[in-house]
Amino acid sequence: MVPAEPADLVLDSELPLAPELAPSRDLPVDPQLAPRRQLPPVTELVLSPELPLAPELAPSRDLPLDPESAPGWDLPLDLELALSRDLPLDPGSVPGRELPLAPVRPRAGARRPPRHLADLPLAERRAAVAGLGEPPFRAVQLSRHFFGRFTDSPAEMSDLPLATRDSLAQALLPRLLSAERELSCDGGTTRKTLWRAFDGALVESVLMRYPDRVTMCVSSQAGCGMACPFCATGQAGLTRNLSTAEIVAQVVAGARLLAAGEVPGGPGRVSNVVFMGMGEPLANYASVVAAVRRLTEPVPEGMGISQRSVTVSTVGLVPAIARLAAEDLSVTLAISLHAPDDALRDTLVPVNRRWKVAEVLAAGWDYAAVTGRRVSIEYALIRDINDQAWRADLLGSLLAERLAHVNLIPLNPTPGSKWTASRPAAQREFVRRLQAHGVPVTVRDTRGREIDGACGQLAASVA
Ligand code: SAH
Repeated sequence: MVPAEPADLVLDSELPLAPELAPSRDLPVDPQLAPRRQLPPVTELVLSPELPLAPELAPSRDLPLDPESAPGWDLPLDLELALSRDLPLDPGSVPGRELPLAPVRPRAGARRPPRHLADLPLAERRAAVAGLGEPPFRAVQLSRHFFGRFTDSPAEMSDLPLATRDSLAQALLPRLLSAERELSCDGGTTRKTLWRAFDGALVESVLMRYPDRVTMCVSSQAGCGMACPFCATGQAGLTRNLSTAEIVAQVVAGARLLAAGEVPGGPGRVSNVVFMGMGEPLANYASVVAAVRRLTEPVPEGMGISQRSVTVSTVGLVPAIARLAAEDLSVTLAISLHAPDDALRDTLVPVNRRWKVAEVLAAGWDYAAVTGRRVSIEYALIRDINDQAWRADLLGSLLAERLAHVNLIPLNPTPGSKWTASRPAAQREFVRRLQAHGVPVTVRDTRGREIDGACGQLAASVA
């Protein structure tokens, strides 16, 4: 699998904030009771110590963490989130400042991606078709073309009347992403695509074909706001959230290649989807959850991929993990831990200054309890930074007896970084100590490294 995927941050200092964007502190906490708040979809959030925040906009670290008494969705999950790019990121120099979360206003002139049928549940597609003066069953026909045959081309829709094909496709199947660059390796079975969106935003996706499966690694945001210092995407900051259809379109593009037999190994289908491309999926919560539904609903509603074959990877946005657990989805949760102790994790995954290791893991165990799904703990091994034997033991003790699995990722160094992958002996010892605690562990293969660098590097090279 491609190591990839950084998170970055955007610090928008152009607040003040509109009060109606402020996360409310007194929402009920119980996921069943919590209202699904409708917040302006294009607003972004930044996490920054520098912001002149009104006190009531800055969720505090001393919020009660007990799920029974916590203030609930203090994280406005329908907004974009980003951390400050100005954080001191050197290990050892963490000032221990709080990182308030705050919404920022959308960039002036920001436009939403065009509406696409993959943004809508089938009932709304029918309504949209009816609104165009066509019989609602045309929505099913269009959906079968897109989700079942992976085409958005009117010329291939012979079951639709010639007179309306073009207008229907234009209205509901706009081409959202165009391939800017394609790279492949592993004899063509690993293919990375750099996509350009309608507004010029760049995102990457990777198709990886293995003997027994095909995994699509998709982006959920253009850029990322989480500022993990070892991640290439983190260097560029957050551009914007992707729409549901922009996420789904990455998978459909891979499915189209596979169905056409254009990937060595014969015609095939996408079996797995991992949200490990650019962006922090849970900082684009509503679009990501809708995309998961679209990917996993049967044709014509969606693509018919098994929920269990979908993995959502997060830096650890605790309220969003709790909300995901309440969605009634059987997707795998991956937590990018990278350190078992707060002192180091505060620097490697800066959002840890808001939600500590213990809180993130507790949210993971709740997720496992609700869904029955084993949580994947992602750990990029960085030489002499987080690969010490004592850290392996500490990690092992935190995970022992839990429904967890550790995925060790040899660090894929980003250009200019002083960090590199662990020495083989250190990696072997890390694995051994985790196993000694009874914790299942795998070392991720480093597919696509030569076309990749770390995820995000391709976008950085073109932007
Ligand atoms: N924002 C999500 C998705 C990240 S991408 C998250 O943080 O989970 C998938 C994984 O790749 C994450 O665990 C991320 O930390 C890791 N990653 C990012 N850059 C990397 C690099 N240069 N080398 C190895 N792993 C990296």
